Amino acid sequence: MMCVKCGLTKSGKEDFFICDDCKDFSKIVDDIYADIDAKMETLENIDPNTSPIFKLLSDSSFVTAQNPQTAIFYKLCEFIVAKALSGASEITEDELNKEIRTTRSWSDAFRIFEELNLIRVKTEKYRRILILTDKTKKFAKQYLGGEPLSDQMQTRLTHIYSGYVLLYILTKVAELDKDNDITILPYKQRPKTLWTILMFLWTTAYNGKEKFTEEDLRSFIAIRRIPSTTRGRIIRSLQTIDGKFVQGLIKDMSFLNGDITFKFEDYVIVEMGRVRERTRERER
Ligand SMILES: [Zn+2]
Repeated sequence: MMCVKCGLTKSGKEDFFICDDCKDFSKIVDDIYADIDAKMETLENIDPNTSPIFKLLSDSSFVTAQNPQTAIFYKLCEFIVAKALSGASEITEDELNKEIRTTRSWSDAFRIFEELNLIRVKTEKYRRILILTDKTKKFAKQYLGGEPLSDQMQTRLTHIYSGYVLLYILTKVAELDKDNDITILPYKQRPKTLWTILMFLWTTAYNGKEKFTEEDLRSFIAIRRIPSTTRGRIIRSLQTIDGKFVQGLIKDMSFLNGDITFKFEDYVIVEMGRVRERTRERER
């Protein structure tokens, strides 16, 4: 039998199987999403320094940007944030098609952004126009009007915005059960790599473990059949060898007998400790 969320196989004949790791991770995803979503709705400033959960989201985005299953969402976020920062309030489908190469239809992606109230879609003369909502404008506006944004800051904003969108999609994976099958997901596809990699990283920190090794990661994702090329890319990102997607989850690394030990930044353990307290409180 195979876990409907991560693809882990186990001997047995149940029609419907969710592995223990996925059960725990679903609770973590729901909790973090609820926290982030409330902050997106109410906070005047989305500041990773005062709300480190946004830093966690931003620092975790290196998994999504180059992944083919999630790239369309990331690219769309990148374009919407850039437009919103330039003061625009609409984006036409033609502009999108010029800017973003994809073989996928936009409809499933648009639906996710609409559900999050980040855009509205209107159709005019057979073409679609994205109207940026106040929520998206507010997100950009907090940085408008001041100094011009550095590229680094704009990238950080894109990471937070796309992290929010991807986290929402992960809540749909968390919802998979006997009554909700894969058709509730955009493109009827599980973002399996994103789910599995974040499950490993976030659950490790959630359990209070400050360190993990490359071998821990390798064995966790190998039994879920994530290709070794993907693993190589993730490891390089964690080592920050891949300069394009700097992540801030890892504080330092040590090498022993050909294995690498990664140590989380302190804030990751603190934030995940908060999540753990809240989820345990709820279970009491
Ligand atoms: Zn699973």
